[in-house]
Amino acid sequence: MWDIAIVGAGPSGSTAAYLLAKIGFKTLLLDKKNFPRPKPCGGGITLKAGKLLSELGLPLEPVEAYHREVIVKGYDKEITVSTSPGGYAIAVVRREEFDKRLLEEAVSWGASFQVSKVYGIRERGNVVKIVGADEEARYVIGADGANSIVAISSGIRGSWNKGDLIIGIEGVAPHYEKLTFMVDAAPYGYGWIFPRSTDSNAGVGGMIEKSSEILSAFNMFSLKYKAKMNRSWVIPIGGHRKPIAKGRVLLVGDSAGLADPLTGEGLYYAIRSSLEAANSLESGEPDKDYMRRMEPIIEELRSKRKAAKIIIPRINFFFNLFVSYPEIARRYMLTSIGKVEFKDFWRWSITRIPRALIRSKLGI
Ligand SMILES: Cc1cc2nc3c(=O)[nH]c(=O)nc-3n(C[C@H](O)[C@H](O)[C@H](O)COP(=O)(O)OP(=O)(O)OC[C@H]3O[C@@H](n4cnc5c(N)ncnc54)[C@H](O)[C@@H]3O)c2cc1C
Repeated sequence: MWDIAIVGAGPSGSTAAYLLAKIGFKTLLLDKKNFPRPKPCGGGITLKAGKLLSELGLPLEPVEAYHREVIVKGYDKEITVSTSPGGYAIAVVRREEFDKRLLEEAVSWGASFQVSKVYGIRERGNVVKIVGADEEARYVIGADGANSIVAISSGIRGSWNKGDLIIGIEGVAPHYEKLTFMVDAAPYGYGWIFPRSTDSNAGVGGMIEKSSEILSAFNMFSLKYKAKMNRSWVIPIGGHRKPIAKGRVLLVGDSAGLADPLTGEGLYYAIRSSLEAANSLESGEPDKDYMRRMEPIIEELRSKRKAAKIIIPRINFFFNLFVSYPEIARRYMLTSIGKVEFKDFWRWSITRIPRALIRSKLGI
């Protein structure tokens, strides 16, 4: 019997497998696909996520491009936000290569990888049976993405509501110089261009309730930026209001719905939740310990969700404030790269809104 079976070998599953195999757990890592496999994603790794990988001893490889400057544009306005010299704001990877590299790292530390589609799990006393793989483990980590079969079959949560999902449509565009977000490219969402070494990952995303409009938005975007559609997929953002563990089963990454409700960034939260899940497995009550360890993250996502409900429907208004008061934009960037806590940024910026409003009205 395995000490731990991890379902899904994306970034969250491979990180958990690496950490647990390294401390001597008999670790099974299962994925329905062999690697490399495609995964719809912009491949943008924030400095915050890159730093966490390096603290864990995991490679951020292979990187296609590092971007220090981020351009945000829309409604005929544009601002450039940059990090301090020497640092980067976003590193861009190709997910098929990045995920394969993380999986190799887990395997090199002793995790056993099996290609197997899992159809569910069943807890029987001190054992969890993995249906489809014909295996048993003391504990299971569900790292099987947005439509997690582990989450549903364990009874930890039901399916996502529409308001818990962002949809992203991703494609390939020619090589552009600057990493750019377009705040007017999609209703209740945005567009992005993430330049790589020879081309760019480009796409649009927004709340799934607007999915047909988002598809039309991609068509407009593709004409403007010569982007060819690859794939679309969902990003779950509802984990902060649902349970993420029960008994012998813990959910991490997209399976737990832990992406950023403002930006859709999921990779940092995938890696961070896997770290907390792996640490909790050394305690007597992993489910309770994991939820306790995750509380600051859940709290952060909860306040981002509240902010998203205010900002996203009024993005034109808030973007004008960003442009007329660039310090707000700069500080926001510091939160997204992990240098400032989101709640401190939000508190600070709320008090600046009246001043920024006056500036934007006066056009200064
Ligand atoms: C269009 C788009 C753009 C995005 N851009 C960014 C970005 O630029 N930066 C960022 O930080 N985040 C981005 N995200 C979010 C990010 O891709 C996810 O948050 C991240 O992949 C979550 O990692 P994960 O390991 O939890 O899940 P996944 O990467 O989805 O991995 C889950 C794995 O589980 C396997 N699996 C699923 N079901 C089963 C089963 N039944 N049995 C066995 N295996 C199974 C799958 O094959 C897969 O390998 C984007 C998402 C989308 C859709």
